[in-house]
Amino acid sequence: MSNMIKKVNGVKDVLPSEVYKWHTVERVAARTAEVYGFGELRIPTFENTQLFVRSVGETTDVVQKEMFTVTGRNSSYTLRPEGTAGAMRAVLENGMLQSDPLPLKLFYTISCFRNERVQAGRLKEFHQFGAEMVGSASPAADAQMISLADNIIRRLGLKDIELHINSIGCPKCRSEYYKGLRTFFEPHKDELCDTCRERLEKNPMRLLDCKSEICREIGKDAPLAIDHLCSECAEHFEKLKGYLDKMGIKYMIDPKIVRGLDYYTRTVFEFITTSIGAQGTVCGGGRYDGLLEEMGGAPTPALGFAMGLERIIMTMENQGCEFMHTPSCDIYIGTMGDAAKERALILTESLRSEGYHAECDLMDRGVRAQMKYADKLGAAFSVIIGDNEINTGKAVLKNMMSGEQTELLIDDTFSEKFGDIHTAHMFELESLG
Ligand code: ATP
Ligand code: MG
Repeated sequence: MSNMIKKVNGVKDVLPSEVYKWHTVERVAARTAEVYGFGELRIPTFENTQLFVRSVGETTDVVQKEMFTVTGRNSSYTLRPEGTAGAMRAVLENGMLQSDPLPLKLFYTISCFRNERVQAGRLKEFHQFGAEMVGSASPAADAQMISLADNIIRRLGLKDIELHINSIGCPKCRSEYYKGLRTFFEPHKDELCDTCRERLEKNPMRLLDCKSEICREIGKDAPLAIDHLCSECAEHFEKLKGYLDKMGIKYMIDPKIVRGLDYYTRTVFEFITTSIGAQGTVCGGGRYDGLLEEMGGAPTPALGFAMGLERIIMTMENQGCEFMHTPSCDIYIGTMGDAAKERALILTESLRSEGYHAECDLMDRGVRAQMKYADKLGAAFSVIIGDNEINTGKAVLKNMMSGEQTELLIDDTFSEKFGDIHTAHMFELESLG
């Protein structure tokens, strides 16, 4: 294996034996979003680089350090580092604000690409479940988005997840706040990391989101956005808190959350767990009232969130949450001889078209080896067909758990008869709990 080409550090294979975990999370998330009136949106894997530069923001880590970009003579494409930019481009480009009733409610399940330093819970290719709501400025919309994320998390059985919320205000209240931030950081300018020194001019709030220890230490006592809200932003935040209280959603105010992306205004939130170590933010979101206008659309309030699916699955594993299992094999048809093989092929076909997971031998194994294989598949029933069964037209169906045996015709009545026995078996399993 030494000369074999290995996968890149920071990407993952999901094998069939693990994929049920992904199905669980994807299905629960999608189903919950549908109950909240969200429709699925599918967006391209890559976009024009400029889309992300403009919407994610020039001063963010994502744009400055993490994008996978391919440049040609007259083009520059970037693999999506997140979903909001592409989703809002699709909303504008397809005229959805005109054609669809507002608010638009969209969700997506996507892979994302960021050239990051790889750690537990931090990959170069990862997956997000995202939801976006476009057109509502009401704090009730914020409350419903948070409720959707909260509901998904609860339905997955996750425990001890803290909801942190904050308000980072709007451009109006921010202009004063930025002055205060600059005054605070100016004396430490030379100690800041290179990126932050640059950010000080363009977007000083970004300094509070820096991962460098030194910048974090300096920023410890920096002024907080939440202490500088204009009256409209303060009122929006008060209403949101009131709604969350009434909805019974527990939260804590965390004035330190600013979120990594430039387009956020007012409400920002994170769902955080301590079960998976340092990268404990399983979901991040907030309002981005400035984005659609920035992207060339009419001024339109909007908000959303994204869940990191790897982190959600890791947390579920660590907390021993239950996953939905992919149904295993219903029936294995063992064979001896060519005539039996042919019959097994036909029976397998008809069983499968009735929706049963049926298997027969494709490896030219002996009967004993075939039965071992049936065991490995976890087959609920088995039947063995040899010359004798072909001649009499009958075979014995065996319940692999109870050992119970039933003689069945191996003609075109087989799958229907099997269906009855299988249904009875499922009832029995259920009553056993
Ligand atoms: P962080 O501060 O951890 O870098 P972020 O602000 O860059 O997070 P977002 O852009 O808000 O993250 O992405 C939303 C969610 O996607 C995160 O809360 C996290 O669960 C997940 N996520 C982000 N980056 C990665 C990554 N490199 N690997 C795995 N999951 C990630
Ligand atoms: Mg990041």
